[in-house]
Order: sequence, then structure tokens, then C-alpha cells
Amino acid sequence: MRVLIASSEIVPFAKTGGLADVTGALAKALRRIGVEADCVLPLYRSVDRSRFPLTPAGASVRVPLGHREETGTIEESDGANGVRAFLVRNDRYFDREFFYGTKEGEYADNCERFTFFCRAVMEWLVRTRRSYDVLHCNDWQTALIPAYARTLYSQEEAVRNAGTVFTIHNLGYQGLFWNHDLPLTGLGWELFTPQGLEFYGKLNLMKGGLVFADVLSTVSPTYSREIQTPEYGHGLEGVLYERRGDLYGIINGIDYEEWDPGTDRLIAATYSREDLSGKKTCRADLLAEFGWSGPVDEPVIGMVGRLTAQKGFDLIAEIGEWLAGQRVRVVLLGFGERSYETSMSELGRRYPDRISVRLAYDNRLAHKVEAGADIFVMPSRYEPCGLNQIYSLKYGTVPLVRDTGGLADTVVDADADPERGTGFKFKGYEASELKGAVSRALAAYADRSRWEGIVRRGMEKDFSWEPSAREYVALYQKALQKRGRPKGGSSPQG
Ligand code: ADP
Repeated sequence: MRVLIASSEIVPFAKTGGLADVTGALAKALRRIGVEADCVLPLYRSVDRSRFPLTPAGASVRVPLGHREETGTIEESDGANGVRAFLVRNDRYFDREFFYGTKEGEYADNCERFTFFCRAVMEWLVRTRRSYDVLHCNDWQTALIPAYARTLYSQEEAVRNAGTVFTIHNLGYQGLFWNHDLPLTGLGWELFTPQGLEFYGKLNLMKGGLVFADVLSTVSPTYSREIQTPEYGHGLEGVLYERRGDLYGIINGIDYEEWDPGTDRLIAATYSREDLSGKKTCRADLLAEFGWSGPVDEPVIGMVGRLTAQKGFDLIAEIGEWLAGQRVRVVLLGFGERSYETSMSELGRRYPDRISVRLAYDNRLAHKVEAGADIFVMPSRYEPCGLNQIYSLKYGTVPLVRDTGGLADTVVDADADPERGTGFKFKGYEASELKGAVSRALAAYADRSRWEGIVRRGMEKDFSWEPSAREYVALYQKALQKRGRPKGGSSPQG
């Protein structure tokens, strides 16, 4: 089976968040189980061309954008980290400092940039007669691909028979633009209805995927149910409920080649479930990184994440004073919206003996937090899957999470289920509930043998990619069946 994974970010080429981890690791895992998976993403400035030499892949593409035409080229990187990728180059759109926008806001031409990307992919497939059995698209930036496959390109040999799968990694980002952008896409106004791409008078690119893809998925079973409700549906709950028969939840795996305390080269000492002694070294190293020297007895609470409304940092701001009054050390690594950067660094300034904040995007430090902390806190308002809590389990760092989405599916509360517990959970999005869970975790920490049990049970958990990759293969087969193609579907053009 040949699959093309389209995404706006893919590890190891380009990453701002979990989407990149997931698409890169899935591609690798699929190849390991015999699926010929290729990737396609934009060629951003930050793609390291010395690490990933690029060669031209076929002719350049001409992409109609409203009354204009833009050209692009497709470049190929063979085998970086076991991932074969095609990168769509147009320097006007992608040779920029960031992928989506600056701190001041999104780039004003994002609709044009990602419409260009989607249509360049279609043009490339058609002109070079590359055919894939399945086009697997991810999030709004690639959502026009399933729409194009069933409209403007439905008669094209290279894509006509391809199944389309659309995966929602985060429903909070939908690619909403004003309706005047519709002509850029080349799609007709007959599609600008609530059953099509319209969303309360605006153009919603994510709906291209939700409406047109053969099969839909999201990144955890709980989130797949939550998004059919008004609380989590971000206004799209109706569409998702209608398509519930085609909507699946597959939990993300973890790339244990990157995230394993036994082999991690970014941490101060390696360790394992059998021998946790290295974790002490990591802890001291982490505290030093965050400006604390000397012995520290109290538990270290770690946090890493994008500083956005989704991640629950307003609850942290609310409980900051209380937290600083506990016997804890808090280390926070975050990068994102200015208002949260301000409120978090303010906490660090007010309670320098208890809370230390680093405003940065720093992968090395993220590994050090996972390894050196005792407790990892994720109080997300919503969380499609979440990766950090799964890394935490592997690193023997007990996750304390809100009971939602993928957090609900991956962490077992140690008070509710003492035999199987791997962490702590709280339900309501309330400061008092978060405080309650932190208090329970601190009480458990004080009981060394109980705590060790929780740590070791978490470290035993296995979230490798292979089982999830097999579930994706089953989805690809469902998509092929919808195209009237046999299971396993070898492409008509080989
Ligand atoms: P999301 O995709 O919503 O950002 P996930 O938990 O699924 O959340 O994935 C986040 C990924 O991004 C993890 O690999 C995490 O380590 C990384 N990350 C987030 N913020 C930072 C940061 N400030 N520095 C380094 N890595 C970060």
C-alpha cells in the first residue's frame, strides 16, 4: 500500500508541536510494517538543508490562485531518519521566520499560503502521474486536499481512486478566513454552504477535510467523542456528529528512539525502570538549569508546553500563590502568547525560591524537564492526545492531568485505582480541582514506597507506534473500500 502523508510540519524537517512528532513517527512506523509511506510538507526557511540534502523531484508546478498563477517546485529528501519526504518550495510563501505567524498574530496570507500548498500537491501528483492508494491529510493546512480530490481533480487518473483520510490533531485551529478568500481556492460558490465550506459566513478550510474525506480520525478515543459535543466541538460538533460513523479515535504513539531515558543523549544521565539512580542526576541537573543549586528535598513539578489558552496556564496563574506556599519547586518551559508569557514570568519573579520560568522553545530542555521532574503537570482545557504526559510516564515522572481527551485515555488516577494508578487526574476546569489533585500528588510523594509503585507502573506502559500504525492501516483500508477498491488496494498504476 502506498500512502502520502500531508502535513504542515513533520519531524525531523519542521516542528512547532505534537503534529510534527505524530506525522513523522507515523510515517516511520508505517514503513516498518511494510506500508510505503511518503510525506509532503512546505519547504520552510528553518528546514536544515545541510542535514537533509534536497534534490529536485519532477517538474515545477503551476498553481492557479484566483486570477493569478504561482509556481512552485517539489524537492525530495530521501530517507532522513527513515522518512522520505517531498517539500513544496515557494520562497514567497514559506521562506519566512515562522511557519504560521509571529507573536503579533497569524500571517495575513495564510489562506493563500496553504491553499497554494494543497493545490501544489494536487498539481504535482497529476502532472507527474504519481499515484498513492491513500492521501492522509492532517489538520486545516492540508484539508483542501480531500476537497480537491472530489471536486476539481475528481477526473484525474492519479487521484481519482485514492482514498482520503483526514486526521484532526486540534479542532481549535480550523483555518477560518473571510469569504472573499474562497475564489483563491478555485472552488465554486456552490460549496459555500453550511454543508460545505461555510462556517457562519466565513470560509472554514478544515471543513474541506471534514466534509470530503472518506474517513475521519482524531488522536484519541475520548477526544473523538468529545468533539461531537458543544463543549469541545468549537462549533463543528454538528458536522462531526453527522459523520460519526466515519470518525475514529487512534491514540498517538511515542517515538521511543527520541524519548527513552535509557538512551536519551540530551539528559544528564540515562536510567531505566530497573535502575532509577540516573534520575537523581537528571533532577540535580534540571534544578541547576533553572538556577537552583544545592540539595533540594521537595518534589519538583515540571511543565512544558505552548503558552496558549488550551494548555491551562490560566489555572496555573490562579493557583500560583498557593503553589508557591507548598513544599515544591516548579520549573516551567513555555513559549507562546504574550499574555501567558507575562503571567508566567511574573510568577517566577514573585516567587523565585519556588517557581522558575524559562520562556523558550528548547527541545533539549524539554527532555531535561521530562527526566528531572518528579511530577509533570498538564491542566489542559482540552487535549486531543497530548504527548508530554506519555513521555512523562516513560521517564518515571508522574503525570498530573486534567481528565479530558487523550489525557483521560493515557493516565490512570492512583487514588481512584491504587492497583493500576500511574498518575493523578482532576475533572472540572477549576483552580480548586487542580489544587486538590496537586495536594493528593504531594501526599502520595511523601509515601516513598507508594510513590515508587506509581512511578514504576507508569514506566512499564508501552505506547510504541506499531499498534497505532496498524490501526491507521485499517482506516486506510476503510477509505479504499469507500472508493470501491479491494482491501489492501494496490494502486492501479502500481
Ligand atoms: P501540542 O501539540 O498541543 O503542542 P503535545 O503535548 O501533543 O501538545 O506536543 C507538544 C510537543 O511539543 C512535545 O514534543 C513537547 O515536548 C514540545 N514542546 C512544547 N513546548 C515546548 C517548548 N517550549 N520547548 C520545547 N519543546 C516544546
